[in-house]
Amino acid sequence: MFNKFKILKKEECPCGSKKKFGECCFLKESRKFYNEKEALSVISKNARKSRINICLCNECKSKAIGAHALQENGVLSKLAVDKYVLMQNKKENATMLEIEKGIKEAFYFLSEVLIKDATVQTCFCKNHDDKIFEDIEKYNKIFSPTNLKQLFLFAYRTFSFEYYAEITSNKFYRNMFKDVPQLIKKTILITNYKESLKKKEEMDYYKNLFDDIIINEKYSELATVVIEFPYTIKFANYMCIAPNFDLMGNNINVFDKKSKMMRRVFITSFPKDEKSYILISVFKRDINVYEKYLKSFEQVSKEVIKYYFNCIIPLISENLILSPDLWDEWDEIGQCLVQTAVSEPNPTRVLLGLKLILCNLSKKDKKNFMLNNIKYNIFGKKNLDSKIKIIKNQINF
Ligand SMILES: [Zn+2]
Ligand SMILES: [Zn+2]
Repeated sequence: MFNKFKILKKEECPCGSKKKFGECCFLKESRKFYNEKEALSVISKNARKSRINICLCNECKSKAIGAHALQENGVLSKLAVDKYVLMQNKKENATMLEIEKGIKEAFYFLSEVLIKDATVQTCFCKNHDDKIFEDIEKYNKIFSPTNLKQLFLFAYRTFSFEYYAEITSNKFYRNMFKDVPQLIKKTILITNYKESLKKKEEMDYYKNLFDDIIINEKYSELATVVIEFPYTIKFANYMCIAPNFDLMGNNINVFDKKSKMMRRVFITSFPKDEKSYILISVFKRDINVYEKYLKSFEQVSKEVIKYYFNCIIPLISENLILSPDLWDEWDEIGQCLVQTAVSEPNPTRVLLGLKLILCNLSKKDKKNFMLNNIKYNIFGKKNLDSKIKIIKNQINF
């Protein structure tokens, strides 16, 4: 018996006690909060407690340093204005909004963050952070969109920072449930908690595969589609997603038949030198799942590719880093739309809408679709006509 939406009495209690829910938090009294400040301080205390210090490289036991998911000098510095970028800052207090009468929920909107703090997590030790990622992190290394080792390292870094986020998210839920037992009866929280557990499990599977590639230097195990822009984009992003439709709106079954687990795609977007890149990597062993998805990048127009990322990056990813310059290009409605997308806790319905739009755009008479007339465009209002290039690595179709 498995229920996505709630914890059954005979299930293990999500507070981490190892007891059955019916014999643990189910019996506890609700915790009372007398004001919003009190609730916020419990959230931020537990968020702090969840941020562990761990080096994700193999069995390394060394202490992790604060490392950037995306290079500070070379990527983030390109986006910053007066040393600030815009992103969701989970280290600050959330904004509490009333979603129903008397019920408030925590939202994280984009806010200004110093680049020295942006995307920093404690998930690699100094030695591994320097050694493993040398080829993409050292300032004098030029990026080449056909260098398999560099492509691998970007996917691996994206994976690692997302994996770390999932470990801390699991921990955060457990801490919160322990402190505030009545939360265990909230459907939306339990649904998210169970999804987070599942994602962690899937990521454990990928952790072994990534470790194996590093040890054996088998960088050709990844297939990568690179989208190259001839100018510097004003955002950066990294995410591990399981897209269940391609760029023409066709369904993709993201579940592996044997393990019943979702398979994932590793996507990293960044400006580098005078160009910009979106790297879309999958493991070759998952190619049966994502062949159609990767192929679809060549089957649609460049405008549709931009439209697709313009929608999914703010919506799905928790790691969108924006330049304040880009933000200023949009009017109030555009800015509102981005804030809404970024803080949306359940994007399923919006994604369904995107799927229908992509379906429509793939029809013959829509080939002239242009991205000009929408309220916000993360690719910027300049460079609208720039030619983008698609480069395939380790893909034979
Ligand atoms: Zn409990
Ligand atoms: Zn280490």
